[in-house]
Amino acid sequence: MKLTVACIAGDGIGPEIVAEARLVLDTVLEKYGHTIEYKDILMGGCSIDRYGVPLTDETIETAKSADAVLMGSIGGNTTTSPWYKLPPNLRPEAGLLGIRKALGLYANLRPAYLFDELSDSCPLAAKNGQKRKFDLIIVRELTGGLYFGERHTEEKDGVLTAVDTAVYNENEIRRIAKTAFDIAMKRRKKVSSVDKANVLDTSRLWRKVVAEVARDYPEVELENVLVDNCAMQLVKDPEQFDVVLCGNMFGDILSDEASMITGSIGMLASASLNATNFGLYEPSHGSAPDIAGKNIANPIATILSAAMMLRYSFDLQREADAVENAVRKTLSQGFRTQDLMPEDADEALKCTLLTCTGMGEKIAENIE
Ligand code: NAD
Repeated sequence: MKLTVACIAGDGIGPEIVAEARLVLDTVLEKYGHTIEYKDILMGGCSIDRYGVPLTDETIETAKSADAVLMGSIGGNTTTSPWYKLPPNLRPEAGLLGIRKALGLYANLRPAYLFDELSDSCPLAAKNGQKRKFDLIIVRELTGGLYFGERHTEEKDGVLTAVDTAVYNENEIRRIAKTAFDIAMKRRKKVSSVDKANVLDTSRLWRKVVAEVARDYPEVELENVLVDNCAMQLVKDPEQFDVVLCGNMFGDILSDEASMITGSIGMLASASLNATNFGLYEPSHGSAPDIAGKNIANPIATILSAAMMLRYSFDLQREADAVENAVRKTLSQGFRTQDLMPEDADEALKCTLLTCTGMGEKIAENIE
């Protein structure tokens, strides 16, 4: 098979982690007799520096012409970077929101899986004396809700007032709910739908439409969870969750929480898909400007995102398994990037610290 992948390295640690994901992709695809062509495109801060805007029409066209998009991360230090002195529609994140919209990427899938090898890095206390073991996926609506509603800041009687609008229509809710139930059918058949229906109208409509969709999936158990309770349950008992269905903002926040309980934000992959399964694959974390250029970032979330790309966009299941197994094997051999090193000194002695490039090379070596 010949794969054409548009590649957005982005800002901060983006270029470092994408280089390692490409090394792993090149290795697995060569082993399994495929070829891959990358089309490098700019988005975010690096696009602002070159073109004055975070997203160009050319970037969108190149992304559309590829089979899938692999991305690192975009953005800089939001306090000190000059990108954040620009008007909001010209800042790096506007590029990300723009490409999601342009490609119709409404479904964001974020698996949060605790590798056995990293159970010591999980910040949650052991449960009934047993090590933690959870495997959930957050399905987040990505092109509606509070992040896409009308917003403005105005001065009323000398007082600055900001307004953001949360809007969801029933069609937007229905299609993401179907995605969640379809995924649940292939997993443990449970959907936890997250809302704030005790306060918000968008949430009351969300709950009604999700219940309608659930009728077509009688084998799947549906529960409604208020977002504040969900945040608490994720740190108390994440084992209870299978598929967690959320609107845009709730999903944004809960998926960071879910990533941290897997040991490090550097472990969590994500896929954003449209109605035809065209996807953009990126780690769940940001551009980590505090560690950019130091060769210490954890590339595993990006490598696992590349594995999701093989699985969802190209249906290359064996190849995706090979990448995931190589990650597992590398961790079981005791190799860790800085963020994964155990705090306990005795446990740390059993591990070998690797750089970002070192981790990429080790995972590539371990591909079978
Ligand atoms: P962040 O995820 O970049 O970093 C949070 C913390 O996690 C930092 O301490 C960082 O060093 C650490 N971290 C993140 N990824 C890591 C990795 N792979 N290995 C080791 N440590 C890692 O979040 P932030 O600092 O709030 O945001 C920084 C910039 O990233 C902002 O401009 C933000 O808007 C942007 N951002 C972009 C995306 C994206 O591109 N999709 C997502 C979130 C944030």
